[in-house]
This record gives sequence, C-alpha cells and structure tokens, in this order.
Amino acid sequence: MSLVVQKFGGSSVATAERIMAAARRAIRAKQEGHQVIVVVSARGDTTDELIELAHQITDKPPAREMDMLLSTGEQVSIALMAMAIQSLGEPAISFTGAQIGIVTDSFHTKARIKNISTQRIRQALDEGKLVIVAGFQGIDEDYNITTLGRGGSDTTAVALAAVMKNNNGAGSQDVACEFYTDVDGIYTTDPRIVPEARKLDVISYDEMLELASVGANVLHSRSVEFAKKFDVLLQKRSSFTDLEGTWIVPESEWMREVVVCGAAMVKDEARVAIEGVPDQPGVSHRIFAAIAEQNIAVDMIAQNVGVRGKASIGFTVLKNELPSTLAVLGPLAASLGAKIEHEDEVSKVSIVGTGMRTHTGVAERMFAALTDAGVNMKMITTGDIKISVLVNRADGVKALRAVHQAFGLDKMRAGRGLLGQLVQGAFKERPAALVEDGGRDLTSITQNLSSMEDIVVSDVLLSTDQGRITIFNLPDQPGNCSKVFQAVAGGGIVVDLIVQNLSGPGRAQLSFSVPRNDVLRALQLTRTVAKSIDPGIDVVAEPDIAKLFVLGVGMRTHSGVARRMFGALATRGINISMINTSEVRVSVVVDTDRGEEALAALKEAFHVP
Ligand code: ASP
Ligand code: MG
Repeated sequence: MSLVVQKFGGSSVATAERIMAAARRAIRAKQEGHQVIVVVSARGDTTDELIELAHQITDKPPAREMDMLLSTGEQVSIALMAMAIQSLGEPAISFTGAQIGIVTDSFHTKARIKNISTQRIRQALDEGKLVIVAGFQGIDEDYNITTLGRGGSDTTAVALAAVMKNNNGAGSQDVACEFYTDVDGIYTTDPRIVPEARKLDVISYDEMLELASVGANVLHSRSVEFAKKFDVLLQKRSSFTDLEGTWIVPESEWMREVVVCGAAMVKDEARVAIEGVPDQPGVSHRIFAAIAEQNIAVDMIAQNVGVRGKASIGFTVLKNELPSTLAVLGPLAASLGAKIEHEDEVSKVSIVGTGMRTHTGVAERMFAALTDAGVNMKMITTGDIKISVLVNRADGVKALRAVHQAFGLDKMRAGRGLLGQLVQGAFKERPAALVEDGGRDLTSITQNLSSMEDIVVSDVLLSTDQGRITIFNLPDQPGNCSKVFQAVAGGGIVVDLIVQNLSGPGRAQLSFSVPRNDVLRALQLTRTVAKSIDPGIDVVAEPDIAKLFVLGVGMRTHSGVARRMFGALATRGINISMINTSEVRVSVVVDTDRGEEALAALKEAFHVP
C-alpha cells in the first residue's frame, strides 16, 4: 500500500475552519487508498508569539526551556487535527515527537534527527488510523524535548517519509510527501519581492537545495537533503486549491537545457574578513573549526591566493550570528597577528540552475546585468549549479530583479523545456560537464548512516587540467569584474571556479580557473582589460593547479564539513589556496604536486572508498 505524508504549515492550520479543510484533505487521501501521515506545524504565528513571550521574561532564555516552550505550538495543532478527523468519522491518533521516538542530538533549538522508530506509527496505520505527528520536535537521549530549528516541520515530514519508505519490512514502500501552504508552489524568485516571478512545475533536489540555501524561503533545506538522500518525491502545493503544485524530484537530462531556474536573496548577511593571516597549512582549519565549534554555519567562503606569505580569508554568516562569530574570532586573530574587518549591511544574491553544469557564459551574463543596474559586487563565489554575489543591502532587491530579468525568468512557463530553447542559444555548451554527478548510489551509502542527518559525501574528485588567473588590487567598483569576464569569454575561454574577495580598502582580489591550454591566452586578455581599468593592477597566471571536489548532500547546513575538510588537509601540511562551498559541492584548490595526496586525505576523512 502506498503512503502519503501530508504536511500542513502554520497558515494551513491557523483557524478551526482551516483545520477542518486540512482534515478533509487527509481523509480524501485515505479514501483514495493511501495510508496517511499528517505532520503539522504550530498554528499561524504561534511560534513567533512564544519566542516573543520568552523574551519578555528574559533576554537570554535557556535553550532547553525554549524547546520545552516552542514544542507546545505543534502539540496544540496535532490534538485539534486528530479531533477534526475523528469528528468527520475517520479514526485518527496524534503523537508528539517523543511518543514516536524521534531521537535527536542535544543541540537545543537546532537539533538534528538521529533516528526514528517506526513501530508505533506502523501499528496505528495498520489499524486503519490516520496518524497525526507534531512537526519540528524530538527528544534527546536524556528525554529532553528538542526542536529542529525554525521551519523544522518540513524536515520532520520528509524524515518520516524516508524512514517509512525504507523500514517497511517487506521492501520499500511507495511514498510521496506533500507540503500544503498558502503558496501554490516554488517560484523563480520570491513573488513578494519580484512580482513578475513565475511558478515552476518541477525542480531538481539540487536546485531546490541551492535555492533554499540562498534564501528562497520555500522548504527547509534539511528536508530536501533527506528527500535526496532517501529518494522521496516531494510536492509543494496550495492548501486552498486542488491544482498541482511544484514537484521536487531527482535530476533528469532535460533539466540541463535550462541554465537558470531561479534566483534568490538572503537579505541579512554579514561579511567578515580576516586579513594578513599566515598563508600556511592549518590556518583555515583553526579558523573554521573555532566557528563550527559554536555551531555557526558559515555561508560564502572566499579564500584568495596569498601574497608575500599572507592571505586573507573572507566569509559570510547570517547577520544575527555576527556577534558570536566575532567573539570566537577575536582572540584567534590576535594570536595569528591578523586583522578582522566586518560589516553587516550586506545581502547575498544568487542564481541557480542545473544547466550551469553544461553551459558557459552564465557568470558573464549575471555580472553584466548587475553592472547595468549599477550594483557593486563585494564577494563572488561559484558552485557547479550556483553563482552567488554579495552586495550592499541597499542594492539587494535591485540586484535580484536585474538577474531575474537577465535570465528570462519572468518568461518562464510550464514545461521548462520551452524556456530552455528560448534561452539556450545565448549560452555555449561546455566541452565537458565540469563534475559529473550522475549514477551515484546513495542508497548503499545511506544504509550505513548511524545518524539520519549525517553528511553524505558520495565522492571526492581530483582535477588537474586547470590553471588559474589572479588579479590583485582590482578597484572595488561596479563593472570591473564584468569587463574581465566579457574579455575572457570573448576569447572563447571557459571559466570555472570564480572567487572574489575584498583584499583591502577599496580593492578586491579576483581569481578564476580556466583550462590549462587556455591559461596564457586568458592571462593576456585579462592583463589588457586590467591595465585599461588601472595600469597599476597586477595579474598573475599559474599554469597548473590541483582542484578537488567533495560531492554530497548536507554539505553547507552542516557547520562541520569545512572543519573536517580543512582538518584532513592541515594534518598533512597541505595548503589550501582557494575554496568554494555550496550545498552539494565543496571545491578546494591546492598546489599541483599535492593533488594526489589531498585526494587520498579527503577520501579518508569522508570515508569514500
Ligand atoms: N513552528 C515552527 C516554526 O515556525 C516549525 C515549523 O513551522 O516548521 O519555526
Ligand atoms: Mg511556523
């Protein structure tokens, strides 16, 4: 028998009337012949109100008591939902996270699921009941109530779908997970910010993960990680209509025809730069380990090429985590003889699309659109299906709109293939996909997970066919990066990894990798533009670099990935000269002659055979 997990968000259970509507929907699914699990959030703004109330009592509510408090919101919803279903004549039973054994770690207010026991749910389902489960909450090994972080009910829903699918006793069960909210699907960008945004009918897990990580406030990232890891089909749809929403599914070939499927913004970021750190193995490790220790997730990381033995490392964290980040870094920077610079009026704007794996010219178009809009980029990082730039907060909306339009997202329509044909002509196919990600068997990997939310690293790859161009002291003004990439693209050269970081007052350092055979030409082209911008700019080329990719799921939401990665390289004395992170890929560049050794080190660190 197939199983449907229906998750209702806060707005879908806000009033008695809506609870009844949700109850009818759940009953309908049962009548259609499915087993049904309903996961609910706290009603309306309950969670926000509870947080507010706690802050009226004390500035620093203890995290354990906060979880005790917040978990009550969902408990109200499950009881009401079970009553609603029973009043309509169907058997139903409600459970808290603890009652069905959702066991988490003990990081209060941001706990991760370790395992879920399916026995009690299975029994209730087999008795013909609809099972109602409180989202967002679990219990740690000492019976303390924990919560999974804001928006965590999504994660509960997919985690349940995943365990039910794989612990069926009789092989795997057909499972789908539906998210009912007041929006009817996933949009090319947030329609409240950019009204011309369009609804997508389908999107891949990786695209969804990258979009969620860059601020598309649609699904909790961790829920999509689960879905990808355990192969659960998701659908995001409206609780007010019966129209199909947006499906979130495994990647398929045709998706590569669309270079960009969405754009998003994280409004409140903060930028931290540590300047003048010794360019030596182990330094990044010390920095990011200290931050990870506090469970702070680092977002963009832009580490540049060192100059005269000193490097600067730039990264971003959410604005509200800046104070705790600075508290950790202060003493560390002092001991390294480095200077910390920071600002908190910045936003991150990103574009995402599977087609970036196989097409070139995407970065140029993005930078050109931002230049035309007069927006300055402070930092740039690229992943294989994502490009992110950091801009002044005041420019955030303008930047988001500009890129949304530049990629024709306002013309996106059902059947993304149509748009693919429309846009594709403008981009050249890459000679070879940068990183092939297909055919990985995540099932065998996930079976060995002791903890459901562990990072899954499926592969570590080494590429030694690239070289690198670095521009030092590029004036930090709108248009300069764009000029550089127009020139390089004009020469038919395919650019891969791009990292830009501010390197001092009003100056930026920009590095990018290109195929080894094109390094000299790229150098000439870059020198010519650089000189036209400012005759004093330095451009250097390194004919070969070793690039390593760590591919997986849950790479960025786990604050410990960077730590493990840097740690593995640091213990072997391997220096990292460039680094880039995304949800599904972390790339580092090391000296060529250390490539093989770095590969072995990373494979060992992430248990990849
Ligand atoms: N009630 C919790 C929150 O608002 C969890 C959820 O809604 O997913 O963050
Ligand atoms: Mg909520």
